[in-house]
Amino acid sequence: MKFALVTGGSRGIGRAAGIKLADMGYHVLVNYRSNVAEAEKTLTLIEEKGGTGTLLKFDVGDNGQVQEVLGAWIDANKESFIEVLVNNAGIKEDVLLMWMKVEQWDAVLNASLNGFFYVTRLVLQNMLIQKYGRIINIVSLSGLKGMPGQTNYSAAKGGVIAATKSLAQEVGRRNITVNAIAPGFIKTDMTEGIDEKQFRSLIPVSRFGEPEEVAHAVGFFASPLSGYITGEVLNINGGMYS
Ligand code: NAP
Repeated sequence: MKFALVTGGSRGIGRAAGIKLADMGYHVLVNYRSNVAEAEKTLTLIEEKGGTGTLLKFDVGDNGQVQEVLGAWIDANKESFIEVLVNNAGIKEDVLLMWMKVEQWDAVLNASLNGFFYVTRLVLQNMLIQKYGRIINIVSLSGLKGMPGQTNYSAAKGGVIAATKSLAQEVGRRNITVNAIAPGFIKTDMTEGIDEKQFRSLIPVSRFGEPEEVAHAVGFFASPLSGYITGEVLNINGGMYS
């Protein structure tokens, strides 16, 4: 059995990515932080399509929990090699920098940037041993061009983009690719409350994207055939580059 881990797999883009990877034959480890009902729904959706998965509850930004839950799963399943890792978990706490609280800065950096580090470091060990792996980091247009009210979020995503490029150079010789996907506006809980009509004129494709349209690219990078693509950042933003 092939294994894939999707962090923040309970809702939105992570859920769609999990379903996509299950379609590709992976047993999907669906990580979530707190929303067990939505995580179970993701698992049901995977199983309804004939796939399999396992729920893993931990906060990616808490290294103790990552070690305790993911580390324990890896130790208890020595024959199970996680060959695809999707670092998708993330939150936003939008506020202008001058009003931003230390907690808001820390929470966003923790989930995206520290979460990337804690989870990847652990999963990478077996990828290095097996000489194969696909690491896919979900970043954001905000991490490339910046967005007012999102200095914390842009810093976190920009950090992951830079880390993607460095790690790709560290592990390329072991057949491990590291790529990033930078979505624009995608219809999920994260963008709930943002008026799509108001932004349509700024988006050449004139609509928000669907989580499945991001998951399609996750499947592309996860494919064994994508082995010569690494350190890349793929924009999925309906043409909204600036
Ligand atoms: P979402 O619908 O709000 O879902 C977020 C997911 O991340 C949930 O599964 C949540 O788990 C999980 N999560 C959050 N913090 C976590 C933590 N510390 N540890 C473990 N899991 C955590 O968000 P989304 O829109 O699908 O976003 C997914 C990723 O895409 C994020 O990294 C986001 O920054 C990025 N992105 C989204 C958009 C967009 O327009 N939607 C655009 C660009 C980039 P619970 O269900 O347990 O809370």
